[in-house]
Amino acid sequence: MNGKASRYSNRDADFLMGLGSLYLAHNLLDPAEELLAQIPSEGALYFDAIVLQIEIQFRKRNYQEVVRLAETLVHSSNYPAWLLEKIGVAYYFLGQASNAKRYLMQSMADIPQNSRVRDNLMSLRPLNQRPKIEELIMGGFEIGITPHVALDCIAPILLGGRPASCCFGDQLLAGDQPSNSEANQQNFYVKFAANLYQGFGIFTAFLPYVDLSLGQCVPLLKLFFSLDPSVFDRVEDIKQLAWNEFEKQKEGSNHRFEYLEKEGALLGYPKCCVDWALKNRRSNRSIEALALRALIEEEYVCSLETSKPSPPGWAYFAHEFYPCKPRCPVAEQVGIDIFEGYRKKEPFLADLYCQHALSVNKAKMYHPVTSYSLFIDNFNKTMVQILKIEAFKKAHEDFDLYHEEMLVILKEYPYFENPEALPLVYAMAKERTSQKFATNVRQAVN
Ligand SMILES: [Zn+2]
Repeated sequence: MNGKASRYSNRDADFLMGLGSLYLAHNLLDPAEELLAQIPSEGALYFDAIVLQIEIQFRKRNYQEVVRLAETLVHSSNYPAWLLEKIGVAYYFLGQASNAKRYLMQSMADIPQNSRVRDNLMSLRPLNQRPKIEELIMGGFEIGITPHVALDCIAPILLGGRPASCCFGDQLLAGDQPSNSEANQQNFYVKFAANLYQGFGIFTAFLPYVDLSLGQCVPLLKLFFSLDPSVFDRVEDIKQLAWNEFEKQKEGSNHRFEYLEKEGALLGYPKCCVDWALKNRRSNRSIEALALRALIEEEYVCSLETSKPSPPGWAYFAHEFYPCKPRCPVAEQVGIDIFEGYRKKEPFLADLYCQHALSVNKAKMYHPVTSYSLFIDNFNKTMVQILKIEAFKKAHEDFDLYHEEMLVILKEYPYFENPEALPLVYAMAKERTSQKFATNVRQAVN
């Protein structure tokens, strides 16, 4: 026995577990592994210790060991979903796609079957009035829709700009929260779909799959929105094709990405862009890298031109879409049509769409994997502020009368320049205007 092991040998399993977890939390994998290995197999903490050992081996990329440890737990009680995911990913990198598929699909069992969602929607009362886009943007929070999702993918359907659209599960409010049970999480999605149907007549279909771009394997939930109920069958079709290809891909067969072709057609993506993406994916080239390279070049060229052409933007009409080139005319037209749709219905949303939704989508090109969520968080926060101001303006019909005075006040007190201070600034402006009026009247009388 070595010195280190004997240091801990008289400690109980609780101590070993606590310290091992702390080491793991700080990514000190070797000492964590050493401690957890001493937890006796007959004790109550053994299951938890193996679960942590799996996490350690996963971080060390010892996928063979991840699978071996997981098999020792096969007859134990239920696995947590994140553990199923790790085992699935380990099998994927070991080239055992069927096992990978089995575990990955189990890890996403909290996503409801589309047939269940459809049956539930069909049992509900259909929408009988034209939905208001403004309500969707302002009140979307209550049903789990962030301003970004509302503006970027749901409103464009209502405006007739797109036949269908999609977003990722972690773009919803509470959609990415770990829930206490699978059933609760299923209910969240079923309720979400029901609210969107009852409020706006939109059908929601769910696609649990994995993101395999850039050499990774990460479970991914996509939600598809459409006014056409055929979206359920079409998404099921895509799901079948995608998982069938997933099973084949480590067998050296040529990946056809047929499901991407169907997905592009469903979402109304320009054919030139879908063909471009397929051609590059099939020859194992990263469309993320190619799209970024083209965008950087285009923006650089714009910055050099003396006539200052506006930088590209219209083509980035969807968060999950990569145009074949930054100025693809067909993709640009989709963005322009959505903008025009907004402009006719609600001009202030048109500007927001242009300045924020399109720019956030373009910004994602620069950060395809990790950081784009920062842009979205920032966007949603900005939107909440803008919506608060708009709501205040709506509630005070005389707002415009005091606008000039409010600008004067903001110059005097720059720290009032936030939505929370708006009621105060408005009240001050009103007070000052009436004082000025009284002074003017007095002067006129004298
Ligand atoms: Zn194109």
